[in-house]
Amino acid sequence: MESLWKLLTSPLYLKHMLDVGASVLLCLGFVVIFGWYIKSSSLVQLSPHFVPMQFNTALGFLLLGISLFALNNSRKAIATSCAAVIFLIVFLTLTQYLFKVDLLIDELLMDPYIVTATSHPGRMAPNTALNFCLSSFSILLMGRSKLTLPRLFFASISGGLVMGLGFVAMLGYLSNIETAYGWGRLTRMALHTSIGFVLTGALLIVAVKYLSARHYGRSPLFFLPVTVCILGFTVTIALWQAFWVAELTMKKQYTNADSNLVAESILIGGGVFSLVMASAVWYAEKFKYQLETLREAKTQILQLNQRLEQLSYSDALTGIANRRLFDLTIEKEWGRAYRDKSSLALIFIDIDCFKLYNDCYGHQQGDRCLQQVAEVLNSVARRSSDLTARYGGEEFVLLLPDTKLHTAQMIAQKALEGVRDLRISHKASPVSPIVTFSAGVYACIPEDRSAIAPFISKVDQALYEAKRMSRNRVVILPSA
Ligand code: GH3
Ligand code: MG
Ligand code: MG
Repeated sequence: MESLWKLLTSPLYLKHMLDVGASVLLCLGFVVIFGWYIKSSSLVQLSPHFVPMQFNTALGFLLLGISLFALNNSRKAIATSCAAVIFLIVFLTLTQYLFKVDLLIDELLMDPYIVTATSHPGRMAPNTALNFCLSSFSILLMGRSKLTLPRLFFASISGGLVMGLGFVAMLGYLSNIETAYGWGRLTRMALHTSIGFVLTGALLIVAVKYLSARHYGRSPLFFLPVTVCILGFTVTIALWQAFWVAELTMKKQYTNADSNLVAESILIGGGVFSLVMASAVWYAEKFKYQLETLREAKTQILQLNQRLEQLSYSDALTGIANRRLFDLTIEKEWGRAYRDKSSLALIFIDIDCFKLYNDCYGHQQGDRCLQQVAEVLNSVARRSSDLTARYGGEEFVLLLPDTKLHTAQMIAQKALEGVRDLRISHKASPVSPIVTFSAGVYACIPEDRSAIAPFISKVDQALYEAKRMSRNRVVILPSA
């Protein structure tokens, strides 16, 4: 359930949702334009008694679809150009309504042969024009090159208003209250126009969520609650107005003769409901935010713990495993070799005359030498189960599970040659003019579950022998 919610609110899913929604709007506009051209009244007005979706309205939806699609796909220039064209159309339409003039745009592209409930043939309803105005305003805000939080906030509010006004018009059709989708005696909003605006509003809100997630990681806490509040109040006030006018014009059909009880109840109930919904969304968002913060903190702590654990098992100077990890691993591998009856090999390595090296070149140079040697040793033990560790000082170990004595000897010899190949000068050494090491090798199939100490002392013995035999060599102690 939780992961489903996470998936639904992920930016990728929001983008898919927006792309699909924008395509639906585009299709809506296209189908109605097509309907006007082929004179299909069922496409233009759905039912013979319904208001037609005006040609310019259909064009508006087509442009809105393109605009939203472009916005989601980072084509801001296309998005804002389409929104600007919509804005121009509705600006001219509203100017015509307000100043009672004819700017010849209503019948410019199509001869309006369906005029059911249309005050001016071909002219979109004033509420439709207002919704387009808000929608294009919202897209213009989101399409700006610098996406600031106030812009996103106003874009979200505009989305809430569009959705609310579209919802009220749709409710008007469902409840047969004409005043909900028509203002005064002016052209009414078509049913599919109202549905288109509910979708547009929702898409605008989702677009804000998507863009703020992409640019700011997450949208601020108050965005959604305020948008829900605006949506609720838009629906409440528009419905209250619609019922108020309906009660007046329909001779108080919905209530008794003296009061506007339904309209007033809608106003009070709707107002309270909007506030309750906004608070609920606020708390839900806050809870989600706290949960996310906790989850992030938990992940950080886990990562930190992992890092600490890694640090506690690695040698600070050379970066390879330390004595602690070696002690734990040999215990584990000894037990495994005992169970599997497999051969466990161990190589002890001790750099020759390292005290003299430090005395001659200084401790810092000595440290660099240790790092170089560790790198070579690490490169010769290649299997994932092999372990190269710094045992202490200038001593290293190679633990080789499932490895026979002969193979271990070859690996030790390879390491010896690898260190010789470094050709680190050691002029104070009586053994060689370059840095070398001595190694003791031993391998066995464990017969006693707890005989690790004797095993290690055998390897030590081999190393002692190598030192005794004038160093710079690998000595193996034959398996018992
Ligand atoms: P041998 O050939 O018998 O092994 O002689 P050696 O001088 O290598 O052995 P010894 O045990 O006498 O000296 C080891 C030296 O390693 C002493 C110490 O200064 C040096 N050493 C130990 N740890 C470090 C380290 O972390 N950095 C540096 N630079 N030197 C270290
Ligand atoms: Mg030593
Ligand atoms: Mg030494």
